[in-house]
Amino acid sequence: MKNTNLSPTPSIYGLDLTKQPSELMEGLRNKLMCVRGEMSDIINAFPVTEIDMKHLCGLLSCGLEVLYRAKKEALEREIKKDDKERGKSLYFSSRGLGSDWGTCFICEESEKILRTNIAAFVKSKEEGETILSWFNGKARLDFRPSEPNWIQMKVCACEKHIHNLEYLSEQTSRYHIIRKKDVEDAVNYKEPDNAKVTEI
Ligand SMILES: [Zn+2]
Repeated sequence: MKNTNLSPTPSIYGLDLTKQPSELMEGLRNKLMCVRGEMSDIINAFPVTEIDMKHLCGLLSCGLEVLYRAKKEALEREIKKDDKERGKSLYFSSRGLGSDWGTCFICEESEKILRTNIAAFVKSKEEGETILSWFNGKARLDFRPSEPNWIQMKVCACEKHIHNLEYLSEQTSRYHIIRKKDVEDAVNYKEPDNAKVTEI
């Protein structure tokens, strides 16, 4: 989700300041982790550099820890703000699009074929049932009493509605949460028509 409180200050270092602070901090952490990894490579290749470089690695590790906490706090703030604007959110963590057997979450096309799907972990059976109600039952809660801590929500789409599922995946993957409004937006999502060519 884009940052709606745009900073009037342009980025001197080429950062995309329309992104949320948590996303920017995550990017910074990834860069620092790469630098720390490169330092380890140098130490391994040239052991004489070890003492100085290890001090620098230690400093970077402290920075990474501070950034981790700052990112976590920023995430919590951003979710709280969005909850106020878009309604209650629940944990919904998927690894993106996969495939599974199931009916389409929009048109309920039920022919028994493999479809594009999202399999997302939810926190509890109760929360899973709430999320299922947001889909008006057009999804499946995979709850197995033998594995009560591994509960997944399975959402499938037919060929015609793959873009709606992609949209839902995009909306829910940033914070690993879902809202009733996300489901409604995904159902009503219309793909931008880029196919039109202006004739001269
Ligand atoms: Zn469909």
